Amino acid sequence: MTNPRKVLEIDGRSIGGDGFAMIAGPCTVESREQTLEIADAVAAGGASMLRGGAYKPRTSPYSFQGLGREGLEILREAKERTGLPVVTELIDVRDVDDVAAVADVIQVGARNMQNYALLTEIGKSDCAVLIKRGLAATLEELVMAAEYVLKEGNERVILCERGIRTHETAYRFTLDLLAVPALKELSDLPVVVDPSHAPGRRDWVESMSLAAAAAGADGIIVEVHNDPDSAICDGPQALPAESFSGYADRVRRVAEIAGKDLPVPAALI
Ligand code: PEP
Ligand code: MN
Repeated sequence: MTNPRKVLEIDGRSIGGDGFAMIAGPCTVESREQTLEIADAVAAGGASMLRGGAYKPRTSPYSFQGLGREGLEILREAKERTGLPVVTELIDVRDVDDVAAVADVIQVGARNMQNYALLTEIGKSDCAVLIKRGLAATLEELVMAAEYVLKEGNERVILCERGIRTHETAYRFTLDLLAVPALKELSDLPVVVDPSHAPGRRDWVESMSLAAAAAGADGIIVEVHNDPDSAICDGPQALPAESFSGYADRVRRVAEIAGKDLPVPAALI
């Protein structure tokens, strides 16, 4: 039995219920030019929100950690220019006000899904939050992470399946698409799928996106780059910006079959 769905309004876009969100953009905000170029491409292709990390949780402490506040300013400019709401990650509770000032949706990454201090602080804000499933988290644990935010009075929570660690080594993570119907049984919150991080390579991203839409996801959060070969982070899985419009159109068609609505971009009408 599926619960009645909660519908969230994010700057005029609805997610949950019939509304399908297409969240697209770079893994990482690398520069003003890179981010604005990608933002323009995804806006023209019909994205409903822009993603991009200014603070990046990296496996190695010696890897690029993100542009920080400078990255947030770039996202603010991208939002003003395209009108797209911004989804960006918060990794440190000390940055909550800075990130919430720019973000329409705060992303809690897989590595921070059980950072309860971070979740509690976000719960005190009125900013929407997208919580990614931890690398080894059960769905029950993901739903409990959401409860930390809800308990503080912030009801604007989105759940995200992004792949889990299993014994399989043929790809980065195992994308658990059964999480979509299962989470809908456990919770009334919108459920989106990240089809980028599990395959780790772009030629498998579209099929996982279509499958996610068919499974009833309320949206997709996908990585797109204007020059994937030179991306600082996650280049091999980034969709080239020029292919985004065709990709979004195909995902839209499957989402429609699954009973969802993603507005067609003005340029294509
Ligand atoms: C990301 O979205 O770029 C990211 C770091 O995701 P995750 O937390 O799912 O690894
Ligand atoms: Mn990434």
